[in-house]
Amino acid sequence: MRSRALLAAAAIASPALAALGLVLVAGRPDGFVGAALMALVLALTATIALSLRPREPHRLRTLGTLADALRDGDYGVRVRPPAGPGGYAELAATLNALADHLQRERHDLHETLQLLSKTLAGLDGAVLTFEADGRLKLINPAGARLLGADATALVGRTWSELGLGELMRADPEAPASRVRAYEFPARGGRWQITHSPLRSRSLAGHLLVVQPIEQALREEETQAFERLLRVLGHEINNSMTPIISLADTLQRLIERGDAGDDVRAGLRLIGERAQSLQRFIAGYAALARLPRPQPHAVSLRAACTDAAALLDRCGARIVLDEGDDLRVRADRDQLQQALINLLRNAAEAGGEDEIRVRWSAEDGRALVRILDRGHGLPASDNLFVPFFTTKPEGSGIGLVLSRQIVEAQGGRLSLRNRDDGHDGAVAELELPLWAA
Ligand code: ADP
Repeated sequence: MRSRALLAAAAIASPALAALGLVLVAGRPDGFVGAALMALVLALTATIALSLRPREPHRLRTLGTLADALRDGDYGVRVRPPAGPGGYAELAATLNALADHLQRERHDLHETLQLLSKTLAGLDGAVLTFEADGRLKLINPAGARLLGADATALVGRTWSELGLGELMRADPEAPASRVRAYEFPARGGRWQITHSPLRSRSLAGHLLVVQPIEQALREEETQAFERLLRVLGHEINNSMTPIISLADTLQRLIERGDAGDDVRAGLRLIGERAQSLQRFIAGYAALARLPRPQPHAVSLRAACTDAAALLDRCGARIVLDEGDDLRVRADRDQLQQALINLLRNAAEAGGEDEIRVRWSAEDGRALVRILDRGHGLPASDNLFVPFFTTKPEGSGIGLVLSRQIVEAQGGRLSLRNRDDGHDGAVAELELPLWAA
């Protein structure tokens, strides 16, 4: 750096030094030549000084302009890097690359926001976000329809002004998401309402999601009724068709004065079919009249041991995979009933090997698995439909009753074929753990 400065100084001084040398050698020039020499020296000195002036301030200003543009969000500006290596060239290339990157990011963000806003616009559910002070910040078209006004007229108003104060007031006891009836300005009904706090790096606020559920519930109900009627019709026809045909035959036999063994056998058959129909109706009554569960702390080991003992007497081989005992929150008698139903189904599915019962705690819930080595599940969507059965003497209420019991205790019951390389099915029962 220092030698460059010395060289520059020497170069600037060189015309004057050359002129001095000339004067010393050739003597002092007279008037016109002296003036011409002076002008030449000045012109050369100025030209050399100008050509050697540092360019850095100008270049730094260019980079500064680019940095300012980036800070202001103008990512279209670039600088032209000089040819060849050097600190300035590197810095210019880095700032250009940064501008490219920011431009791409902005484009991606724009696309993501467009997608998000299209998704929000297509939702049936209303989505509303509020600032920390309760003012509406964002609302999707379903939300605006629910509040009966244009989004532009709604944004900026507080939730109390929008008639949502009751929904937004935080109740520490209430679950974050619940189903409830609510009258919104433009529509009333039953809704799944989720209210949660929103927190990003520097902003806090609230999110409210309102989903209409009435229509979905009605569709589900209609489907359930249709399935139930199909099975009921099938079951009643199964009993009534032979009864009608037998009654017809008996009538003809009696008219002919033939009241022997055939008549007695026919009457017996009619009685049996009528009884089966009666059992069927009794099963339906059991389903409809399930008493309210009385929850206690129930030991899974004790409940499974008792249920298995009962089935053992009927010849089923049941093995409990003993682990740590778990206590669940359940009505003991009802849980017992569900376990017996599931174990009986497992036993009736056949197979040589024993039925295994396992339990474990997963994600704060108890999970009981009943694994059999039977023929596996029939290909049907109706397993949990009342009165669906594939057994000649089956009632078709075991599974639906068990599911009803388990769900009434806040649990879940599912049934599927095993996927661990063995034949057979696995019933999975999830129950809340007892929190003492
Ligand atoms: P039921 O036992 O009287 O038939 P359920 O409601 O208990 O009534 O069962 C309905 C149907 O589900 C059974 O008829 C059977 O086809 C099927 N099922 C239930 N559990 C099993 C199992 N472990 N393995 C194979 N099929 C099963």
